[in-house]
Amino acid sequence: MEVAYDAGVRVPGAELWLDPYGVKPFAFVSHAHSDHLRAHGVVFASEATAALARERLGKRARSRYTTLAFGCEARLGDVGLEGPGQDWRVKLLPAGHILGSAMLRVEGDRGSLLYTGDFKLREGRAAERCRPERADVLVMETTFGLPRYAMPPSAEVEERIVTFCRDALEESEVPVLFAYSLGKAQEIMALLGTAGLPLMLHEAVASMARVYENCGMRLPPWRQCDGGKLDGHVVICPPGSEGAPAPEGVVKTRTAAVTGWAMDPGAVYRYGCDAVFPLTDHADYPDLLRMVELVGPKKVFTVHGFAVEFASDLRARGVEAWALGRENQLEMREIVAGL
Ligand SMILES: [Zn+2]
Repeated sequence: MEVAYDAGVRVPGAELWLDPYGVKPFAFVSHAHSDHLRAHGVVFASEATAALARERLGKRARSRYTTLAFGCEARLGDVGLEGPGQDWRVKLLPAGHILGSAMLRVEGDRGSLLYTGDFKLREGRAAERCRPERADVLVMETTFGLPRYAMPPSAEVEERIVTFCRDALEESEVPVLFAYSLGKAQEIMALLGTAGLPLMLHEAVASMARVYENCGMRLPPWRQCDGGKLDGHVVICPPGSEGAPAPEGVVKTRTAAVTGWAMDPGAVYRYGCDAVFPLTDHADYPDLLRMVELVGPKKVFTVHGFAVEFASDLRARGVEAWALGRENQLEMREIVAGL
């Protein structure tokens, strides 16, 4: 099985698009982060992704959603694909990135393919555990595809986050954590709930938390920011809300960004926060290598982030690997042509 790239990954031999950027008649959508949400004719996704996508797109969503439970097999024709490829078998496997994030395994006459979408191998607090399976071809995300992105143990980072919040509260300041409203924010909620810290959520975070709860994910008690006093709470906001006027009654805030990019030198200055914590929803570099081991593919294609660098690392390790993407296709042709 091969893949093609044209503003999105496509499996040739069928109109099977994987997280395409443009609107398509049929598309597999791996998870509900907004860079993946489009009004495709048919959106094939996990049940939780469909629920989150409906919430995020609201009335704009004219798509027909087809879903499959994790681990169940179907034929592509059963989930809405028309034309060639209808008989290919498909299965969704949890990707561990955020709630509902799925990897797609597809198998036809020409072999099998696993597409990871965004994933993490580390066990999260508010996402299903990643469960890869073997395949002939692996298409994987490589956001953190450089050796310098080896994250510290998450238990250690989590402890630092809890200490940061406790210290601020003890000194009568309001700890404010900036994190993606979908996924990262709920991970942090679960962490701080276990530590017994009271939570106040920005409305964007609150609306995603409601969908998590409707999907059966247990989260700790929380309140939505309503302009009232925040004292005594940890506030969770999406990135970009740093410049928002402080709600009334806030004496002083202590801010932190929670992101894998905290590994970059100078991140604390770039984010303009008091602290940065490298907790990520993506696989770090060692886990990217581990994913290749677990899937045992004959060939790997990389997308996103340091795709070119990671593919080249894999080739140096004896694995056939190529980066997908417009400029990367050129690199592939040059390497193949021996230029
Ligand atoms: Zn994502």
